Amino acid sequence: MALLVQKYGGSSLGTLERIKHVATKIIQAKQQGHQLVVVVSAMQYETDRLIQLCHTLTPDPAPREYDVLVATGEQVSMSLLAIALNTKKCPARSYTGSQIGIQTDSIHTKARILEVKTELILQDLAEDYVVIIAGFQGVNARGDTTTLGRGGSDTTAVAIAAALHAEECQIYTDVEGVFTTDPRIIPNARLLSQISFEEMLEMASLGAKVLQMRSVELASKHNLPIRVLSTFSNHPGTLVTFEDKIMQRRLVSGIAFSREEAIIALNGVPNRAGIEGQILGLVSDANIEIDMIAQNATDKETNDFTFTLHRKDHPKTLQILQQLAKELGIASVKSNTKVAKLSLVGIGMRSHSGVASKMFQALGDVGVNIQMITTSEIKISVVIDEDNLERSIQAVHSAFELDKLPSEKKPSLMEV
Ligand code: ASP
Ligand code: MG
Repeated sequence: MALLVQKYGGSSLGTLERIKHVATKIIQAKQQGHQLVVVVSAMQYETDRLIQLCHTLTPDPAPREYDVLVATGEQVSMSLLAIALNTKKCPARSYTGSQIGIQTDSIHTKARILEVKTELILQDLAEDYVVIIAGFQGVNARGDTTTLGRGGSDTTAVAIAAALHAEECQIYTDVEGVFTTDPRIIPNARLLSQISFEEMLEMASLGAKVLQMRSVELASKHNLPIRVLSTFSNHPGTLVTFEDKIMQRRLVSGIAFSREEAIIALNGVPNRAGIEGQILGLVSDANIEIDMIAQNATDKETNDFTFTLHRKDHPKTLQILQQLAKELGIASVKSNTKVAKLSLVGIGMRSHSGVASKMFQALGDVGVNIQMITTSEIKISVVIDEDNLERSIQAVHSAFELDKLPSEKKPSLMEV
């Protein structure tokens, strides 16, 4: 017998049929003798719908009221699931974040969990109830409803599992786990049976959207493995866990990418102390995040300074820098908004050389020009033309034989 914390995502709860299916799965787990705490997302598209309603009134709602509104999605799914379970003679109770005591700070729309109260949960479990808790929401010290940012139900589930000292936190979704890359783009992507927290964080931050980043950080902090698996199959999915628990050693684990990138290049930047800080200071004052940076000296007097950022921030940043260029005597500001970033991730890179050269050769072999490069201990990222993205992923994926990982399942995606 184990205490299981399961989280079901929006597509797993998208219709009443699916809610009934989830109820059946929960009852099966219970019949095996497990105690169950279930965290739910809102029904599929519901959170988007609520946000849209709000934005039809104003693009700039009071954050407190926005949270009250968007937290309602999870209240619908939690109660429907409890009702579905009760109908099948399985005692279940649903609770909002505030009722359970998911205490957060007061940063509305992206609050952080400070504490999870376990009294009510433990009481109900002792009385043989399935405890259903609304994900994505909590309560601040004043008693106001808060929400945790998009995808925040994953973080609710991990926080509850950590507070209850559960053995693992199971995240049920509509894909079978974490793949070597996006199977919608590379059909021979492979399902990974295990991946380390560190790799998962890199993959999540680079746009692999299976888990909210914060949930992975929290799980790693609390030594709590996360299992990502499909609601619609019986495959054991992917275990996100510690590096030393990973059984299958491999050089690289996956390729993450993001399309919505832009490059801005400043040419002829006067070569003097402090100028980089001046340039980026203005950009960060406008709350714009930048990603990669490269600088090289063109001659004694000037540098070229190049960086990447999210494409949506490009127009504003360009405007700021065109103004600054005049003031600082920068020769020109150029940009390219049709670029994408591709990143190869793997803990094996730490102990093996030659990964970068192999990756660059694979790209060269298919005629793809690399515009920028950054590396970290377990990741190599390149910026390329967006039009080249798919064949670049394909080339790197096969160069590292990710499509040949042994004994792991090929994707079978569900239609949603
Ligand atoms: N319902 C929320 C969202 O769509 C939270 C979640 O699904 O994790 O972002
Ligand atoms: Mg999600």
